[in-house]
Amino acid sequence: MSKMQAARLHEVGPTFTIDQIDIPSCGANDVLVEVKACNVVPNLRNVIERYPTWFPYLPLPKLPAIYGLDAAGVVKAVGSHVHGVKPGDRVYVNPGRSCGSCHACLRGEHLNCTAFTFQGYFGFGPGSQRVFEDYPYGGFCEYMTAPVGGLVKLPESITFEQGCRFGYLGTAYSALKKANVGAGQTVLINGATGTLGLGAVMLALAMGATKVLGMARNKTLLERVRQIDPSRVYVLSIGDEPIEEWVQGHTGSLGADVFIDAVGPGAPHQISVSGIQALRRGGRMVDIGGMSEDLPLPMFKLMCFQISVIGSLWFSVAEGQDMAEMAAAGTLDLTIFDQEVFPLSQVNEALDALEDRKGGFTNVVVTPGR
Ligand SMILES: [Zn+2]
Repeated sequence: MSKMQAARLHEVGPTFTIDQIDIPSCGANDVLVEVKACNVVPNLRNVIERYPTWFPYLPLPKLPAIYGLDAAGVVKAVGSHVHGVKPGDRVYVNPGRSCGSCHACLRGEHLNCTAFTFQGYFGFGPGSQRVFEDYPYGGFCEYMTAPVGGLVKLPESITFEQGCRFGYLGTAYSALKKANVGAGQTVLINGATGTLGLGAVMLALAMGATKVLGMARNKTLLERVRQIDPSRVYVLSIGDEPIEEWVQGHTGSLGADVFIDAVGPGAPHQISVSGIQALRRGGRMVDIGGMSEDLPLPMFKLMCFQISVIGSLWFSVAEGQDMAEMAAAGTLDLTIFDQEVFPLSQVNEALDALEDRKGGFTNVVVTPGR
């Protein structure tokens, strides 16, 4: 067997074609993974249809391209220099690629590499095109290559469908870590019912936050978020009450320790500014949603109150392994997702299914290697 099925994008637009292509061989430091599940992430349609005009400075893989950001599967083969991973291991493939040799990489800051690139998605710098050439396989195919340093080992208790949710979960986890979230703290989350925001709720609870204050608009979904842990999660439907007063009421008039902004392009900036205003002295706001509007920031207050505003992208492989251990231990509950599973041949239908999802609770995946 030397051929595999791959869903490829041949032109800018929303439609993938199923092609027969060669199964790749892996380099000395790489592994070959049989993809069991790949997430059809909510932002994918934007990337393949709108990024060329929205963000022309973000490189995309040359067409025809195999997309698929978040893949989980089973190791089929390993390169000659790979010793800690073996065929049969269950893994999540962290798609974040870096050059390994620039100043940022040498400091261990792989996410700040000038060539930082999401395998099967998009890149951030002029070096990204070379990364796409080295690793041209996203998760929308039966077999993909990845460097051994990009793998998170998954315990048996994590299904492949759950494992391929790690991208958005990890983005939230890394943001909460940058904000030093822990016991005794109150975390305010904007967009708490969305794919990123729900992950922030789950991880804040898993990390021991004492109180999670979730904001969004959809009351039905907010109630479902509250039900995750009614003794620690409180929710506000935006517009029902002024945000600062609501936060003050839950924090003895002190304000929140941390504010995670998880709303994407198109969201209004006023709610984010209110979230920053609702922080206590020394509070930290972390942006993971990337809204497109500019924020008018109260710089004098930021200085006086020692408030930090931090941008955070993605997460490290080690942070991914943290989450796998948390899920194995039962402190991170991955069973709350509604899985919508499609064969690879129905990837276009899976993309359409994103339109009807129930906020972050719906997890749309394709299953190539089954
Ligand atoms: Zn680098």
